[in-house]
Amino acid sequence: MNQNYSQDRNYIEKTDNKGEFWKPCPGTTQGYLCCGYQIITPLTGCGMYCSYCILQAYFDHQHQVLYTNTDDLSAEIEKKMALWKGVVRFGTGEFGDSLYSEHITGAARMVAAILDKYPNTLVEFKTKNTTNIDLLQEIRNPRKAVIGFSMNTPAMISILECNTASLKDRLEAARTCVEMGFTVAFHFDPMFVYDGWEQEYSEVVDMIYSYIKDPQKIAWCSLGGFRSMPSLKTLLKQNNTHLPLFSGELVTGADGKLRYFRPLRVELYKRMKRTFWTHDPQCTLYLCMESPEVWKESGMGAQIPDGLVHYLNKRAEKILGLS
Ligand code: SF4
Repeated sequence: MNQNYSQDRNYIEKTDNKGEFWKPCPGTTQGYLCCGYQIITPLTGCGMYCSYCILQAYFDHQHQVLYTNTDDLSAEIEKKMALWKGVVRFGTGEFGDSLYSEHITGAARMVAAILDKYPNTLVEFKTKNTTNIDLLQEIRNPRKAVIGFSMNTPAMISILECNTASLKDRLEAARTCVEMGFTVAFHFDPMFVYDGWEQEYSEVVDMIYSYIKDPQKIAWCSLGGFRSMPSLKTLLKQNNTHLPLFSGELVTGADGKLRYFRPLRVELYKRMKRTFWTHDPQCTLYLCMESPEVWKESGMGAQIPDGLVHYLNKRAEKILGLS
């Protein structure tokens, strides 16, 4: 990432959000199972740069945007929560990194404070950055927040994730979050197939359990093979930066995204499942945007007899002390 590009990405525009702050996760169609996440967007963008990040194709700018009409956010949540039945799993990391600019924006703490009065809400802050972890101590009720860390192997972090925290720093930050009273989550998404992936991804899972000694402090973990809208390939090709990301053979899925062949994805998931279950057979492990067939072939179908949303809601209820 050159200096100008980094400067662009670190600029924060402040503006009002004229639309809705709260939207359901869009991944609900074409036969893939969605996790039923509810997205709150207090800000967009982030100052790091991952070459696989779809946001670079999604937005027509690189900088971050912080929405300042927080009263509207609060009012919208109040109105929608009045109609909501059961537990809600929120996340703020869909259109940017939840914590990258927390020291400037305070967005995660603001969202946690707004949700504090609703006993049936759990919010996840997803990040690849670790510099702002200490600020999370200001969250009054850490039991109602999950700090999610995006994971990858050191090899993939070094070639695909510019300016992000190292694997070790992410794990140390996760341990600190647990000490502060939060539960944590680990997301292997996107996973890549390359020479040695089997060993290296398994080692990352082993490391997780060497840093987090109590598996109950891990809310959930997710797996997702690399997938992308073709528009990202087109964009990266303009600067000849589409490799090695788009070097392997990819197929077009029912949702129009390029992804690995199904047998390869199943292989990824099977291997990871085995490693996770060696450490914790009760681990809440789920697949991102995969079909029921892939769940079954990966040996994970029995985990979700009542569906993926129910599986994760049950876990959220347990964390919240509702069940
Ligand atoms: S950290 Fe997340 S939001 Fe930031 S560039 Fe990487 S994938 Fe995109």
